[in-house]
Amino acid sequence: MRGKSLVFNNTPISGSSLNYGLIGDPVDHSLSPTIQNAAFQSAGLDAVYVAWRVQPLGLRSAVQGLRVLGVRGFNVTTPHKSAVARYLDKVDILASRIQSVNTVTNDGGMLTGFSTDGTGALNSLEEAGASLDQGGIILIGAGGAGRAIAYALAERGCRFTFVNRTLSKARLIARRIRDQFNIQVASAPLSSRNLKTLLAQAEIVVNASSMGMNGKSNLPIKPAWLRPEHYVFDLVYRPLETKLLQYASLAGARTITGLDMLVNQGACSFFLWTGRKAPVVEMRQAIGLRLPMVGSPAG
Ligand code: NAP
Repeated sequence: MRGKSLVFNNTPISGSSLNYGLIGDPVDHSLSPTIQNAAFQSAGLDAVYVAWRVQPLGLRSAVQGLRVLGVRGFNVTTPHKSAVARYLDKVDILASRIQSVNTVTNDGGMLTGFSTDGTGALNSLEEAGASLDQGGIILIGAGGAGRAIAYALAERGCRFTFVNRTLSKARLIARRIRDQFNIQVASAPLSSRNLKTLLAQAEIVVNASSMGMNGKSNLPIKPAWLRPEHYVFDLVYRPLETKLLQYASLAGARTITGLDMLVNQGACSFFLWTGRKAPVVEMRQAIGLRLPMVGSPAG
């Protein structure tokens, strides 16, 4: 006799359900389970996604455990995005260049790492109506997310200025990108003076740094420097309406939030795991996001 199934999100969980999840620390406030389970349900897949808190000392055992348990795929978040690579069998070329993995596939015990942050970010900008090919892009932050976006822009042949608190990190990546892709990438230290000058010429500003996280920051940008023509994208989503996005709204600029990004990078993970186009509308609805309105303020 078949065992009685548990029901989750109106979907029966059985012995044959496929397992996916997230490792990081902390993970208790993560929205990824809500987003991915909505995607599985909408796609009619017998799969479930959960979050596991893994501390740095337990990372190796956790990855080995996920492999032997046959977990089909998992996301990786802070603080393991760099460290996880050494416990995988393969890391794709982009994730290896940026030294950051946020998605792992498990193909019969073979674990492969990817980064979906770059594509997720570019999809978020285009979904809001931004044209990436016209130049005038300011990218703030040279951590894992900033590096992923820098390479995604470079692969598209887009020129941009790479701004970071520690200039040497942005400079190094900008130089590698110039050598590899033969495109113009300038670098600059994070300062009010630089941002005022850059914003006068740019159309798109992306904050891929932790500046503004948990509401803490002395933002080196003034509302008066932003215009309705600007697209202002903040990857930070705690708080959801960061000070940068508040300033952008005041200026009548178009805003793109960290939750738009969370859905889009999650959609890329879903595709890597299932080979299917992700049901982005249902994923957005699951966390209360409106549908993007192309070409108009989206915040
Ligand atoms: P990371 O690797 O730790 O890098 C942090 C970056 O932020 C570095 O460039 C760092 O500059 C800069 N930074 C830290 N504190 C700062 C401050 N007070 N002022 C200015 N710059 C500061 O982190 P990450 O993975 O790249 O993530 C960066 C942010 O993006 C985080 O808030 C993260 O939550 C968010 N994120 C969101 C999504 C999403 O789906 N919405 C996805 C990925 C990341 P230095 O080099 O000078 O230290």
